[in-house]
Amino acid sequence: MMADKHTKVLIIGSGPAGYTAAVYAARANLNPVLIQGQMPGGQLTITTDVENYPGFKDGILGPDLMEEMRAQAERFGTEIVFDWVNKVDSGQRPFRVMTDKSSYTADSIILATGATAKMLGLDAERELMGFGVSACATCDGFFFRGKELVVIGGGDSAMEEATFLTKFASKVTVVHRREEFRASKIMIEKAQNNDKVEFLLNKTVEDIIGTKEDGVSAIMVKDTATGEVSQFPTQGVFVAIGHTPNSQLFEGILDTG
Ligand SMILES: Cc1cc2nc3c(=O)[nH]c(=O)nc-3n(C[C@H](O)[C@H](O)[C@H](O)COP(=O)(O)OP(=O)(O)OC[C@H]3O[C@@H](n4cnc5c(N)ncnc54)[C@H](O)[C@@H]3O)c2cc1C
Repeated sequence: MMADKHTKVLIIGSGPAGYTAAVYAARANLNPVLIQGQMPGGQLTITTDVENYPGFKDGILGPDLMEEMRAQAERFGTEIVFDWVNKVDSGQRPFRVMTDKSSYTADSIILATGATAKMLGLDAERELMGFGVSACATCDGFFFRGKELVVIGGGDSAMEEATFLTKFASKVTVVHRREEFRASKIMIEKAQNNDKVEFLLNKTVEDIIGTKEDGVSAIMVKDTATGEVSQFPTQGVFVAIGHTPNSQLFEGILDTG
């Protein structure tokens, strides 16, 4: 069996958080090892224009930004490994980390595995992601100026996204499958008091109508009481039903020792 490789700092994840940690750890002479995971560069590699990153006044393409971050981390001596962590044993010191190709011991671990937006699971949602469908108002709201939008969800993030989107949109309709919201009272009131926000309740979203060329034109909604399916016109869909932290992969790691 191959011996574990030892490192002072093991960074898991190669998104902005992982590379930022790598720059700091490497400049502190800690010779970090960074495991990239199945998505080298993280979520920004699947987007085009990033307009809110300080220092790039004309915006920068997501993959280019991540390439810059990778090069900066490497410049100070980070060892970047294309591999995937399967298991972290935090019950022993040093920690033991098993990857697909190898195994490590580490004095400290930085978990930078990001989060994944929960989606409805519709085919159209996947196909039109970035073409009228989004899961991030802060990222994409700006591209929907003067448009009529829907936000799907009933929690704090749905209320927050809806309120935020009114900065750009002419109208935002919150579509929720129940009558009551999971969101906190203050967030609901903020959305309700906004003239541009409307509510479409007791409706589940069954489909999204649109094309990559022309974007989104409508959603199909089903009434939870009557089962009736109808079309609701919209020019953009923001799915806001929460995020799942990828660190769940490492069950127990956050509460051990
Ligand atoms: C389409 C899209 C557009 C976006 N546009 C913008 C924008 O314009 N502006 C903005 O500010 N934000 C934007 N975001 C949000 C932004 O991408 C995230 O906030 C950011 O990427 C989070 O960084 P992170 O480092 O925490 O995680 P992530 O970027 O999610 O990176 C997670 C990393 O962890 C790795 N990983 C996961 N599990 C394992 C494992 N078991 N072993 C090893 N590695 C693992 C993955 O390979 C990945 O490299 C956008 C997101 C999406 C999806």
